[in-house]
Amino acid sequence: MLKAAEKRSDMYEDIKKVWKWIDGADAVLIGASNGLSITEGLHLFADNQVFEELFGDLKRKYGLRCILQGMGARWPTEEEKWGFWSRLVHHYCGKYQETQVMSDLKTVIGDKDYFVVTSNGECHFELCGFAPEKIYEVEGNWLTMQCAARCHDRVYPWGELAENMAAAEQGGRVPSGLVPRCPACGGPMQVHMEFENFIPETESQERLEAFLKQYHGKRLVILELGIGWRNQLIKAPLMRLAAAEPEARYVTVNLGEIYIPGEIREKSCGLDGDLAEILHRLAKERMGETG
Ligand SMILES: [Zn+2]
Repeated sequence: MLKAAEKRSDMYEDIKKVWKWIDGADAVLIGASNGLSITEGLHLFADNQVFEELFGDLKRKYGLRCILQGMGARWPTEEEKWGFWSRLVHHYCGKYQETQVMSDLKTVIGDKDYFVVTSNGECHFELCGFAPEKIYEVEGNWLTMQCAARCHDRVYPWGELAENMAAAEQGGRVPSGLVPRCPACGGPMQVHMEFENFIPETESQERLEAFLKQYHGKRLVILELGIGWRNQLIKAPLMRLAAAEPEARYVTVNLGEIYIPGEIREKSCGLDGDLAEILHRLAKERMGETG
């Protein structure tokens, strides 16, 4: 008991320290991955109650085990492919309501300049009011689509189409008339995520580079949310950035998985705990409600 209590009080001290860093920062670079989605109730790998409610019929028909499998599946027909995707997008984007954890994150950032780098594709940052030009979705996102053969490099929004499809979907299939075709080659389209022929997010990446240039040598807080310690895509570059920027502070929030290399330990803080609770505490610090 005592040990748990001690750990808790250390955590509150760390939260106060992190809040001071954010409060004094010139800008915040947010890195987010799967752990944030899970905190919001979206679990790509789980065969849980929500998955059963949303995709139980496809589970029984195709042996679908989780959302991620459905995203990468080779569906037998375009009607079934878009049946799956439109149901997913309708549920997690169309019907999405801002969660407490995202409200708290917005409170924490306040009116600071920021940039978001995320491997999450469900567009919840945009849907919560983060500026689209300040978000780099490294692996693409669910609300745009592209030519499956990548005959040209343009992405197209399909959120509205997804809603129409979801409304018309029956037994996992959408009507053939709603299946999108590439405006250039007439071939199939696919959701703009990191599948074969993925069109890279070059413009967002350039905006991130401009942001980093702007805050080079300044007080930049790198705030990592729910990124596993082995993550090479986002975590590794953020740690390198923390090492290279003399005034940077590096904060990693993750339950049970904190990894900070020795060379940046002095300028870092790992918050090992529930992401929702930690962001709520940080938001309270901003609001001046301590304790
Ligand atoms: Zn095409």
